[in-house]
Amino acid sequence: MKQAIVYHEDYNKYDLGTDHPLIGDKPRKIMSYLKEKNLLSDFQVFTPKKATEADLLKVHAPTYVEHIKKLSQTGGWLSEDTPAPKGIFEVASLATGGSMCAGEKLFEGFQVAINPLGGFHHASKGHSSGFCFFNDIAVTIEYLRKNHHLKRFMIIDVDVHHGNGTQDIYIDDRTVLNLSFHQDGRTLYPGTGGVEILGRDDAAGYTINLPFPPGTGGTSYFNAFKEIVPPVTRQFKPDIILYQSGVDTHHVDPLADLNLTYQSYYHLAKQVAELSKETCEKLLVLLGGGYNSSACIKSYYNVFCGLLGKKEYLDEEDIPDTDPAAVQHVVTQLKQSLSEYWAL
Ligand SMILES: [Zn+2]
Repeated sequence: MKQAIVYHEDYNKYDLGTDHPLIGDKPRKIMSYLKEKNLLSDFQVFTPKKATEADLLKVHAPTYVEHIKKLSQTGGWLSEDTPAPKGIFEVASLATGGSMCAGEKLFEGFQVAINPLGGFHHASKGHSSGFCFFNDIAVTIEYLRKNHHLKRFMIIDVDVHHGNGTQDIYIDDRTVLNLSFHQDGRTLYPGTGGVEILGRDDAAGYTINLPFPPGTGGTSYFNAFKEIVPPVTRQFKPDIILYQSGVDTHHVDPLADLNLTYQSYYHLAKQVAELSKETCEKLLVLLGGGYNSSACIKSYYNVFCGLLGKKEYLDEEDIPDTDPAAVQHVVTQLKQSLSEYWAL
């Protein structure tokens, strides 16, 4: 198996300010940690280029792209939680170009390709918030659809926040199976991603949401993952898997209330890598959210260990669910609704 990672020093300019939860130099920290742990040598490193405006316009409205450009010249706010510093248009275009570059590597002999500054799932066609400017997931899908004639895209999004932007974009598109595991929107930004949202019209069954109650631990999370994701993936037969591997589900993450532990990220990534191997041998990994500066780096490290199927990885003591019955209830509910579309 060959693995690629894309990285640019300018990634670290995706910085929304010192009093903002986003860790501006996270990409550099991830790369240093991989180096320290002797894992970087397992990857070939590539330097991405900015996505062009034409690329962005395959997904985003012209007025929205203009709006980001203007904000980027003056500085300002995209939304209440998302400051738009000067130069953000260039940096966000570079982050998007990074996901496209990683996607392209999957057609150049690599089976796994990673963009550490990717997974901006809150960006919709014409509006955004949640620290996201352009939806690199969708821009990459549209790029691959056009340039490599792919027909079936599978998104596995395990960031703690619901991928509402991606859902808005693909809610009625049955060529994109969009699966999001997240904390229940009634208790966390962005408030969407209810279990009953399953896709529209003939794309019903192609949007899958599993909203976990606060306090869900890694064991039940992973059990639910194993019950749902492998059978659906095998039946859908994707041409590519896009894995938004956010680690803000970790129990010390300051923005959310799920209780996953280091080993969770290892097991999830390992399972996703196995599914990719079994179906399409094309796995694009976008690292997504993570807001505790020390825990998120270790969690991402375990994502890498899982992808590579390493024997050794970090672990810590499991945390049990605070309300096991509530977790079981929502998992059962989703499985029941999905049984109309997929054999589980
Ligand atoms: Zn998140």
